[in-house]
Amino acid sequence: MHVPDRPPRRVAVIGAGMVGLATAWFLQEHGAEVTVLDRSGVGAGASWGNAGYLAPVMAVPLPEPGLLAEGLRGLPDPAAPLHLSPRLQRSTLAFLLRFAARSTPRAWRSGMAALTPLDRAALPAFDDLAAGGVTAPTHEAPILVGFPRPGADAALRHELAGVAAAGQDVRLSTPTAVGPPFSDRIATVLRVDGQRHIDPGGYLAALADSVRARGGRIVAGTRARAIRFGPGGLQVDTWTQPPEPADAVVVATGAWLPELARPLGVRLPVQAGRGYSFSAGVDRPWTHPVYLPTARAALTPLGDRVRVAGTMEIADRDAPFDGRRVAAIVGSIAPYLTGVDLSDLRDPWVGPRPLTPDGLPLIGATRMPGVHVAGGHGMWGVTLGPVTGRLLARKMMTTDPVPELTPFDPLRRRIA
Ligand SMILES: Cc1cc2nc3c(=O)[nH]c(=O)nc-3n(C[C@H](O)[C@H](O)[C@H](O)COP(=O)(O)OP(=O)(O)OC[C@H]3O[C@@H](n4cnc5c(N)ncnc54)[C@H](O)[C@@H]3O)c2cc1C
Repeated sequence: MHVPDRPPRRVAVIGAGMVGLATAWFLQEHGAEVTVLDRSGVGAGASWGNAGYLAPVMAVPLPEPGLLAEGLRGLPDPAAPLHLSPRLQRSTLAFLLRFAARSTPRAWRSGMAALTPLDRAALPAFDDLAAGGVTAPTHEAPILVGFPRPGADAALRHELAGVAAAGQDVRLSTPTAVGPPFSDRIATVLRVDGQRHIDPGGYLAALADSVRARGGRIVAGTRARAIRFGPGGLQVDTWTQPPEPADAVVVATGAWLPELARPLGVRLPVQAGRGYSFSAGVDRPWTHPVYLPTARAALTPLGDRVRVAGTMEIADRDAPFDGRRVAAIVGSIAPYLTGVDLSDLRDPWVGPRPLTPDGLPLIGATRMPGVHVAGGHGMWGVTLGPVTGRLLARKMMTTDPVPELTPFDPLRRRIA
C-alpha cells in the first residue's frame, strides 16, 4: 500500500446511510478521523427499511429492455408494481429519456462488465467489517424465487446467464417440490445459492457503533448545505451548526445527492425510485429470503416476522407516504404465499432508491479538490455499500491505482 505524502487526516462524510457509514469505517482503517453528518440520523434514507438482500448476482444495471415499457403500461394504475407518477417534473422526464437510451442489451452488457468487480468483492467487504468489529450478523441462505407459470423463469435465467458470462459465480437449481411458504399458485421455484441477507436497521446501528468505537463522530440533525473553501481550508456549511472543517469530504446523500453534488460538477441526474416495505406475521420463522418477480416483491426473514419490500415509484424523493402502494403490494403477493398473515402488518416505510440513468453508481473525485461522492447505487446500495467504501477509502488515502472505480467516475456525462 502506497501512502501519499499527506493523506487527508480529517474527513467529513455527509450522509449516514449504508454508503456513508461504510465509507467512514474504511477511511478509519487508513487512519482518518471521520465525522459523519446526517440531516436526520443513522439510516434515515433508503438504508433502513429495504429488503436487506446481499445478493451480488442480482446487482445488475437497472436499465434493461422492457422495464420502461412496463412503467408506461402501469401509468394509469396506482397499484402497478412499477409506477410513474403522472405529474412528472421536467427533470424526471429528462432522466427517463436517458434511462430509455441506456435500455439496450449492449449497454446492459457494458454496465454489467463495470459492476462485476464490485459484485465479486461485495461479500468479502462485509467479512472485513465483521473481522473489524461490526457485530451485526450477515446470514447466508439461498434466495427462493417463485413463478406462477412454468417457463416464466426464462427471463431471470437469461439475466443470470449474462451475470455468469461477466464473471460471477452463479449457482442456480430447481427444487423438485414447491411447498410453503409458496402457495399452490406458484408453479416453478428457482433457488439462487451463495447469497446473504441482513436486518438492515440492526446492521446500520452496529456499523454506526463501530465507527464511534473507533473514534468517529456521528452528528445527527445536521443538514449540509454547501461545501466550500473557507479560511482554514475545506469546510462543510450546515443549516444549524458551525461549519465543519475537513481535509477531505465525501458526499453520500443517496437520492438527495444532486443538491450538494451538482455544484461540484456532477451532472448525471439521480432520481428517486421509491420503494415501500412493512413487516408481516408468519406461522413459523423463515430461514430463506423469497422473491416474487411477478409482484416485484422481496421478502426477508426479520426475527420472528418477515419484511416485505416492493414497488418502484418514480416520484419526488420527499413525496408523502402513499398507503395505496402498501395495499397494492399486499394484493399482489397474497395469492402466492401461505403461512404469512397479511392482516398483521407493522412498520410501514417508504424510502428512495438513488437511481442513475445508466444504472451505475457515482464513486470518486469531483472537480473540487478533496471532495468525493459515493452514491447512486439504485436497487443495490446495501449490497454494494461496503465494497464502495473500501475502494473509495483506498483511492482517497493511498496512491494505489483503483481501476475498479474508473467506470463510476462521477463527472461522466455518459459511458460507452
Ligand atoms: C424497498 C427497497 C428495497 C431495497 N432492497 C434492497 C436490497 O435488498 N439490497 C440492496 O442492496 N439494496 C436494496 N435497496 C436499495 C438500497 O436501500 C439503497 O441503494 C441504499 O440504501 C442507498 O444507500 P445510501 O447510503 O446511498 O443512501 P441513503 O440510505 O438514502 O442515505 C442517505 C443519507 O443522507 C442523508 N442526507 C441527505 N441529504 C443530506 C444533507 N444535505 N445533509 C446531511 N445529510 C443528508 C439522509 O438523511 C440519509 O440518511 C432497496 C431500496 C428500497 C427502497
